[in-house]
Amino acid sequence: MGEIKLDIIVIGAGLAGLAAAIGCALAGHTVSILEATQELAEIGAGIKLTPNATRLFQLWGIDPYLSSPCEPQTCSIYNYKGELLTYDGNFATKMRQEFGAPSLDFHRVDLHRCLLKRAQDLGVKILLGHTVRDLTHANYETPVGVLCNNGETYWCHLVIGADGLWSQCRSILLEKPIADPPEPTGDLAFRIVLPIEQISDPELRNMVQKCELQTWMGPDSHAVAYSLKGGTLLNLVLLRPDDLPENVSKMDADLEEMWELFEGWDPRLRRLLTYATEVRKWKLLHRPHLDTIINKRRTLVLIGDAAHPMLPYLAQGACSAFEDGAILGLILSHVNFKSDVSTRLELFEEMRLKRTKDIAHATMLQRHLLHFPDGPYQQRREELFRKGAEHLEEWELFPAKWLCRTTRKWLYGYDAVKHVEEAVSKSPLNVVASTEHPVTGPQRTQ
Ligand SMILES: Cc1cc2nc3c(=O)[nH]c(=O)nc-3n(C[C@H](O)[C@H](O)[C@H](O)COP(=O)(O)OP(=O)(O)OC[C@H]3O[C@@H](n4cnc5c(N)ncnc54)[C@H](O)[C@@H]3O)c2cc1C
Repeated sequence: MGEIKLDIIVIGAGLAGLAAAIGCALAGHTVSILEATQELAEIGAGIKLTPNATRLFQLWGIDPYLSSPCEPQTCSIYNYKGELLTYDGNFATKMRQEFGAPSLDFHRVDLHRCLLKRAQDLGVKILLGHTVRDLTHANYETPVGVLCNNGETYWCHLVIGADGLWSQCRSILLEKPIADPPEPTGDLAFRIVLPIEQISDPELRNMVQKCELQTWMGPDSHAVAYSLKGGTLLNLVLLRPDDLPENVSKMDADLEEMWELFEGWDPRLRRLLTYATEVRKWKLLHRPHLDTIINKRRTLVLIGDAAHPMLPYLAQGACSAFEDGAILGLILSHVNFKSDVSTRLELFEEMRLKRTKDIAHATMLQRHLLHFPDGPYQQRREELFRKGAEHLEEWELFPAKWLCRTTRKWLYGYDAVKHVEEAVSKSPLNVVASTEHPVTGPQRTQ
């Protein structure tokens, strides 16, 4: 009984699409990506990857491709006035000890480039300038056709929809023209990247070079700062109530306006803001959780923001997209019959729906905990920090999930490879897989 090589088309060359392409190429399939833009360009800001994502680097063999990640050494949380509420001076070491993988911060361009290079080295073809508009089906050897706006159609066995927040694949799956348009959350993000040469204050330069992760919590708002590129850049994200016009999702922002909005905040944060020379505002949008991420014919599966957009409050959007890509690749390893692709996709769906729902729930809860107005809830929050209550068993109570021991365990301790092994061993696939080709991950790394 020979293994079958599937033709797989991934729609979208963002982080989710590249992760899935790498996973599926390592599983031995022929993978192409159709990408709408003419040029691949991630935006120039930072992105955090927690151990549930970075542990996949080894599986994918991308360690040698990584360029200048920054590992936050310490973690501090302040109230907006600048009072230190909690400090972990061994953040990096504890992460590695607890989870066997680091928490890493990247410049998005570097991370995207590294995944792209790995995918291309594995033989993944990338077709730029191909906007997908629909799928069609026929009784061919490769039964699903991907229709592009340029009139071309590409046939394959399976389509992976990784086309982001405004996903066309989501509409195709839900069989509605605009299935469920992204909705505003009520927040926007100011995003700033500061090169260290722009920062003359020695205390602040030192902070950037030491790779410190810092969060400030304030009324309806919060701010996060972390270093990039080995401590030569600072990434700042400021979350505020959304004041962008209804139909505008991002635009250049006014530095004066930003400065005024953070009046009364920690003088160190305000000093940092004075070094910014440009800033962009991003409306934060989300979409409801789906009950299904595979189509009825079992020829389309959604991943990444197309399936489960994650807001940035817990930094899990790309992390969960990496989990999707890894699991999909592992589940699609050692396919012996085309008919078992359906069973494998159903298993993928079963594994992903609950976990991504749990992460989205924790993310929204974190938003709530970060933004208390001054008053009794904010005082209780600060009390919990001062008491060092990270051990609270009711995970929903501790106000910073990235320090809460219970949350960290299920969120960062998640091992996609183990989860696939367990899920496969309990599924009908086990009969096929265990006879000759156990579906496991690590053997596939190079
Ligand atoms: C302010 C902010 C901060 C964040 N910080 C973090 C963080 O620190 N850590 C983290 O894990 N996550 C973070 N996230 C979330 C993370 O950025 C996203 O979840 C992730 O980038 C989504 O990747 P994706 O590939 O699913 O979508 P996208 O990056 O949107 O990629 C989709 C791709 O599909 C293409 N495409 C779209 N439509 C079509 C079509 N019809 N045909 C062909 N191609 C198409 C697009 O051009 C694009 O290249 C943050 C998000 C925000 C807004």
